[in-house]
Amino acid sequence: MATPSNGSSDSFVKMPTIKFTKLFIDGEFVDSVSGKTFETIDPRTEEVIARVAEGDKEDVNLAVEAARGAFDHGPWPRLPGSERGRIMMKFADLIDEHVEELAALETIDAGKLFGLAKLVDVPSGAKTLRYYAGAADKIHGEVLKMSREFHAYTLREPIGVVGLIIPWNFPTTILFSKVSPALAAGCTMVVKPAEQTPLSALYYAHLAKLAGIPNGVLNVITGFGPTAGASISSHMDIDGVSFTGSTKIGREIMQAAAKSNLKVVSLELGGKSPLVIFDDADVEKAAQLALLGILFNKGEICVASSRVFVQEGIYDEFVKKLVEKAKDWVVGDPFDPKVNQGPQVDKKQFEKILFYIDHGKREGATLLTGGKPVGGKGYYIEPTIFTDVKEDMLIVKDEIFGPVMALMKFKTIDEAIKKANNTKYGLAAGIVTKNLDVANTVSRSIRAGVVWINCYFAFDRDCPYGGYKMSGFGRDNGLEALHKYLQVKSVVTPIYNSPWL
Ligand code: NAD
Repeated sequence: MATPSNGSSDSFVKMPTIKFTKLFIDGEFVDSVSGKTFETIDPRTEEVIARVAEGDKEDVNLAVEAARGAFDHGPWPRLPGSERGRIMMKFADLIDEHVEELAALETIDAGKLFGLAKLVDVPSGAKTLRYYAGAADKIHGEVLKMSREFHAYTLREPIGVVGLIIPWNFPTTILFSKVSPALAAGCTMVVKPAEQTPLSALYYAHLAKLAGIPNGVLNVITGFGPTAGASISSHMDIDGVSFTGSTKIGREIMQAAAKSNLKVVSLELGGKSPLVIFDDADVEKAAQLALLGILFNKGEICVASSRVFVQEGIYDEFVKKLVEKAKDWVVGDPFDPKVNQGPQVDKKQFEKILFYIDHGKREGATLLTGGKPVGGKGYYIEPTIFTDVKEDMLIVKDEIFGPVMALMKFKTIDEAIKKANNTKYGLAAGIVTKNLDVANTVSRSIRAGVVWINCYFAFDRDCPYGGYKMSGFGRDNGLEALHKYLQVKSVVTPIYNSPWL
């Protein structure tokens, strides 16, 4: 594994200048009311990148006031859908024009591979905007066939002001999976990026303004969860909140919504996803898929295949291939094009992962490979694979959110289904087999919001995505997500003379 080349990234790419560090309210960058700021740290070097405005309740109130004004009196919800779509397309073009700078921001703030951020994360924001821009003028209700002499139809109206709370692992992708359908629906919004990764959201706010999104429609409050985030979920004048993050905080958000104004809530939460590999699989390809399933984005992905089940006939061969591939996996500076895995997002996450690795060893699991930090500086961790794990071990039950795989063996299809479902989560699952009957049986028996057969992480913005069980409810992506930001109104009128007039 490569040693991280801390601080030498300038040889790979031009470092971005930090242009935006203030809150974005009503179309302007402003200081927080308290004047407080917080540090955002580069996980490659553990050094401060910038100080960013720390929003709290009063700032959220100002942002909601701006969003409410823009919703109740501004043009955005009243524009023809095609016009909203046109402005969103312009926003998408501006993202493409600034892709390099935005990708570099994601790399220094979140530790993401620069090459992937440039090729996938940042362009995905633009693509998602375009997808929903195309839907903005296709929002319509239905004509209803009523009994007697009444004519009725439904209207789909924007739900109003929405709060969008974003985690740090995909600061661009998840932001746009919420902002884009909300914009298309005609909502106005207060966005709260994660405190670990506030920089790109502020840059996107600047581009939104350049694109012509009216003041007050898109506001960004940077700050911490218990203060800025909690002020959003408990706000009396926010009509809906869409949250992606941990199950623990999801529960708090639902409680805050229940205790305040019963705002609409959707929750995309944690996962402990199974990848089930059957005897008929190509072992080489299956090992590659399993490795990518846990190591992509350094395991900081809610759908990571953190529990891998391999049928006994190919188990030994699979283990051999997996270890070979893990040894070739390069950990290091995410600006370096040869690197496969950058640093974990911050010290807290780094320490949490190392705690679980240590706990796994103490619980009696066998460390097949990895398990240690890499380099003396930065939050780098080796790809880590445990075998001899039992289903009641913490490393099998808890979401670690890092490059740590629990590898298990199974004999029969029924056993595989039972083990795959033995989790409180239900976000994603993968199946590897050439047998269609097996694939169909298992995919229909696993309780998860997405099942990938002979692939993994095959995301598409047209494909709804979200959880079963304690992985949450509501869907991002697809037209399902657009409907999350709309509500249905029924309008009824007599066809002939009204009996009530
Ligand atoms: P987190 O829940 O601590 O934080 C997520 C966001 O919520 C951040 O913006 C944070 O500031 C905010 N927040 C924290 N406390 C809050 C509160 N009391 N009220 C309102 N907002 C609050 O999660 P995290 O550690 O940042 O992210 C990791 C978790 O997110 C993992 O469990 C992962 O599975 C989950 N996740 C899920 C998905 C998905 O699509 N299902 C995607 C990415 C991450």
